[in-house]
Amino acid sequence: MRIHSLPRIVTIHTTEFRRRPRRMELPGDDRFDRVVSSSQRFHRGDPMSATDSTLSNDLTKRAHEITRRELVLYVSRTQRSQAATERARKVMPMGVPSSFQAYDPHPIVVSRAQGSWMEDVDGNRYTDYDMGFGALFSGHCHPAVRSAIEGQLDNGTLFVTPCEANSEVAEMLGARYGLPMWRFTNSGTEATMDAIRVARGATGREKIVKVEGGYHGHHDEVMISMKPPLDLAGPADNPTPVPGTAGVTNAVLGDTIVIPYNDPEALERALRGGDVACFIVEPVMENIGICKPLPGYLEAVREITQRYGTLLVFDEVKTGITAGWGGATGALGVTPDLVALAKSIGGGLPLGAFGGKAEYMDQITSGRVVHLGTYNGNPLCMAAAKAVLSEVCTPEATDGCIDRNRELLAACDAIIDRAGLAAHAVQFGAKGCITWSANPVRNYRDYKNTDFDLAFAQWIHGINRGILLPPGLDEQWLISIMHSNADAMRYAAVFEEFVAELNA
Ligand code: PLP
Repeated sequence: MRIHSLPRIVTIHTTEFRRRPRRMELPGDDRFDRVVSSSQRFHRGDPMSATDSTLSNDLTKRAHEITRRELVLYVSRTQRSQAATERARKVMPMGVPSSFQAYDPHPIVVSRAQGSWMEDVDGNRYTDYDMGFGALFSGHCHPAVRSAIEGQLDNGTLFVTPCEANSEVAEMLGARYGLPMWRFTNSGTEATMDAIRVARGATGREKIVKVEGGYHGHHDEVMISMKPPLDLAGPADNPTPVPGTAGVTNAVLGDTIVIPYNDPEALERALRGGDVACFIVEPVMENIGICKPLPGYLEAVREITQRYGTLLVFDEVKTGITAGWGGATGALGVTPDLVALAKSIGGGLPLGAFGGKAEYMDQITSGRVVHLGTYNGNPLCMAAAKAVLSEVCTPEATDGCIDRNRELLAACDAIIDRAGLAAHAVQFGAKGCITWSANPVRNYRDYKNTDFDLAFAQWIHGINRGILLPPGLDEQWLISIMHSNADAMRYAAVFEEFVAELNA
């Protein structure tokens, strides 16, 4: 391997920082030190300092050793991915179609996927626990989804006029979420954007509230304080809105109020002026690992928003039907005014939806709020969604995934306990994650105090052993309909190996 061939400028971009791709100059000639240090910087998020680590020095040192060794192995087994990325960088910024797909030293470039596995262009096979950031709850190319898509191909892919499946899918979503009116989009970004517009139309107000660390897609008004550097983020109880990208105007910034998650008093303070259209929030945050609501939080949120005439918008793009048959809404028992969906409802096709109470969705009926889109409700995505919602992700199949996941979580917790590590496993529905801190994460600031050195070492160790997690520390695994019990437990076996190495 030609160590000196590593580029001197390395793009820093894994998911903990994935919304803010970075380029940084790396000093020195030792390639692996450079990548290790770049991953540290990346995962900590500039400008977090090493003093944020909760780890003992010995464990941090061991994590760096493992990372350094595993990066060598990674590069040696992904040479064709490296070549493909170098080619791609000449025609696409960062060599990827979406910035969160980029990471150092290069992403794996995938050739095929089926069921619960993916294979890269070097022929490495992975058990996929990423599953399209949770979009593939049905698995890769589930036979029923595939046959629904194939069947639709005989009858056309795009009508730009309604098809009967539109109402069938809307009825299925209505039954799951207890909300009567729906519209379709092509992504989660569109779903949250349109839900916010409906809320503004319905209330006649301009401001919105979101939580720090929350990601709701890549439209301007929510590209704010997704993963803000702490030196710009202001006090924990009254965060400063920080633009997550260039191109967000001051006007948009001024209309978005940022509060901490799990803090009803902060919400009440933000709503007191009576000028907030909606509070958009993931009922369980799934872009900082898995961050659950404290007991009573969502109920308080429901009561406070109602009191101030502010609409409650649940972003269930990530939680969705992976949380349970009725989504997080059903699992947690708090009903929002509007909900945004995408990912898991589409069976791997680009589909989003937003739904809500008739009194708010009537904004669209009356024409006050305009909702458009050439591909909205296209028959191909509808065919896939029908199969997902009616045949594949049945209540029994969904509960089966959640049960398999529970076993995996218990195995991981037992491994952590035996090793006496400051970490714990967190489950929500069919998703799970290891959080590298002894204490539960209640909000973004807690998340920033988890240990990213250990998390990165675990990720790179796993990928070299066929365990494919999202490339970063803010995502979670998904046990899909197509993960067998053996698939699920493979993660625990490799995790146990990693923990043994840490303590070696
Ligand atoms: N909302 C949440 C909670 C998400 O995690 C995402 C994407 O990761 C989105 C919205 C945006 O969805 P999409 O990538 O389909 O635009």
